Amino acid sequence: QSKNGGRNGFSFFESAMTEGAAERLRLEHDLHGALLRDEFVLHYHPQLALADGQLRGVEALCRWQHPTLGLIPPNQFIPVAEDIGLIDRLGAWVLEESCRQMIVWDQAGFHVPRLAVNLSVRELERADLVDEIREILHRTGVAPERLELEVTESMIMRNAELAIKTLAALRGLGVTLAVDDFGTGYSSLAYLKRLPLHRLKIDRSFVEKLTQDSNDDAIVRAILALGRSLGLETLAEGVETQAQVDFLLQEGCIEGQGYLFSRPVPAADLVATLF
Ligand code: C2E
Ligand code: MG
Ligand code: MG
Ligand code: MG
Repeated sequence: QSKNGGRNGFSFFESAMTEGAAERLRLEHDLHGALLRDEFVLHYHPQLALADGQLRGVEALCRWQHPTLGLIPPNQFIPVAEDIGLIDRLGAWVLEESCRQMIVWDQAGFHVPRLAVNLSVRELERADLVDEIREILHRTGVAPERLELEVTESMIMRNAELAIKTLAALRGLGVTLAVDDFGTGYSSLAYLKRLPLHRLKIDRSFVEKLTQDSNDDAIVRAILALGRSLGLETLAEGVETQAQVDFLLQEGCIEGQGYLFSRPVPAADLVATLF
């Protein structure tokens, strides 16, 4: 066995790092042209009323159809898109594409009441976000009250005073606002109260072990109580079992989203999934 036979902790670490860095460089490089090559696709995840299963909305979720690596999930490329300054254009594409899709569904007589779109931290801090969203709504003809923008607690708290201004201006357009992954960040209740929010989306990590872990039961109850007292609607993410639905309904949660109802699906499949 040679001295550098790969068992050596240092050389193993070094080669793993090189591999990671090479992959990252490759993603960065390919990502630059991905918008022009039209490689992004949106899947839509239904949001349902827990009480009667009615379709309340869909969340647009971005995927990258890479020519050789296949379908890449957002957690692997959104952070890279933020780092290389592509997120503004990608975010605008997601908004415009999903708004156009709403009109296509409208024209097909398939009514999707609400479209939810995730914002990234960079987008929330861009100076022209509000103008751009106004223009996209105008160009596509989607009524502002049908668009919901999702932001996370950490995005808000990074620069809370700026976030309050931007969210108020977005609210001024007539769109609604939801806090995504609620409970995983730490937000100040004082700020939450000052924000023009409509909905808390309870993070999937608390929903996962509902009815099996009494701590999670207690956390979800507390979030639902908080939502009620702040006058906010509530939606549970990651609903996978009927037991979770029963618990959520009993505790007053309004909507749910999760694999129990449907996986996120391409636009063309949504009608077949739900009707
Ligand atoms: P998110 O906004 O919290 O979206 C929910 C994620 O949970 C989605 O993963 C969805 O597929 C997954 N999910 C929903 N229900 C279930 C379930 O019952 N079980 C399990 N195991 N998973 C479930 P996805 O599509 O991989 O998206 C991950 C994250 O990427 C999103 O989290 C969002 O933060 C971000 N993202 C996706 N699209 C965009 C985008 O267009 N712009 C920005 N800025 N971020 C995006
Ligand atoms: Mg989301
Ligand atoms: Mg979430
Ligand atoms: Mg998220």
